[in-house]
Amino acid sequence: MNFSLSILNRLLPVIVLLITSFGFARPMVAAESALPFSQWLDGVRKEASAAGMSTGFLNTALAGVKPINRVIELDRRQPEFTLTFWKYLDNAINPERIRRGREMMAKHQTQLQKSALKYGVQPRFIVAFWGLESNYGKHTGAFPVLDAVATLAFDQRRSRFFRSQLMAALTIMNRGDVDTRVKGSWAGAMGNFQFIPTTYKGFAVDADGDGKRDMWNSFPDMFASAANYLSRSGWRSGWSWGREVQLPKEFKLELTGLKIRKSQSQWQALGVRTIGGGSLPTGDTEASVILPAGYNGPAFLIYKNYRTILTWNRSILYAIAVGHLADRLVGAGPLKSKRPVEEVALSRADLMDMQRRLAALGFEPGGSDGVIGPMTRTAIKAFQQKSLLPADGYPTMGLLEMLRGTK
Ligand code: CA
Repeated sequence: MNFSLSILNRLLPVIVLLITSFGFARPMVAAESALPFSQWLDGVRKEASAAGMSTGFLNTALAGVKPINRVIELDRRQPEFTLTFWKYLDNAINPERIRRGREMMAKHQTQLQKSALKYGVQPRFIVAFWGLESNYGKHTGAFPVLDAVATLAFDQRRSRFFRSQLMAALTIMNRGDVDTRVKGSWAGAMGNFQFIPTTYKGFAVDADGDGKRDMWNSFPDMFASAANYLSRSGWRSGWSWGREVQLPKEFKLELTGLKIRKSQSQWQALGVRTIGGGSLPTGDTEASVILPAGYNGPAFLIYKNYRTILTWNRSILYAIAVGHLADRLVGAGPLKSKRPVEEVALSRADLMDMQRRLAALGFEPGGSDGVIGPMTRTAIKAFQQKSLLPADGYPTMGLLEMLRGTK
């Protein structure tokens, strides 16, 4: 997935997981739209026709396409609570997901190796994405993709983005990759790796040579497509994503965050060690130290491939989960850092308030959507530095109280 869609097509947007709350009036589909849906759809038909799609195909594809209220509801829902680092990880990675992932690694070994050779993406990472995206193909979505994407394109909120998704969906259907009645997530993510239409169009691969790029039934196509997408997003062959590390007591928190890049040798000189206390591998590989759960939580030294995972989904927790699950699939144990006795979850409204207050103070958090991405982390860190606080970039209630001037 590209940067802009990472929050859009996911049921697990960034830190925020949806625990509850549809406690508002049932939304109307596209109340603000100037045209009735059927006339709007005629415009889509004209655009697709101008792009070279046949009338026959468009008649079949667009027949009966209609807006789905539930899609708008899901698009508008406001999660009441955020998920903390440990809860996120517990949700993403459990013994059953690890067990099945190992089973899939063994079962599809030959095919995974082929993709690994061709695209330079190790099997454990392909399988980890597969586990997180669709639970190894168990959950690929139940909404008709054209209807879902047309609903969101007709709706005013993100019409441009979803209009391009709709055109991409029609394109891949027209070329025979995907059936016109295919089902996906409420936001149009498709198949075992939940590719949105533009990603499918741009990166899916016909690896078994039957002329179709099939992300549902063809394991060769699926694995090659995921590996191709990662490879084209900058995956560095043979490299891992990162590792859990120990920081020395006197470690300066200003050195943490994705913007600070140093070689492993430099980090070693600054006292960073493997989680077992050993030396870091030598070399000039660029790495950053991140604290996804704040300075009391685990520390990770992340490499280039972690950044590539962020292009698939910009959630820093998602990226940790992919990396950690990949490690677990090849025998690594759980994270070694101690869990806190209690983690206080911030509400989506709290996070939005935090972002608005940061923005008002001139720290650019990249919007106030209540989703904590790298930009918000950087803004928090800058605020902490200016306020002489431990600059770990982590949103806490204490920080919000300080921004509100109540602490
Ligand atoms: Ca194929």
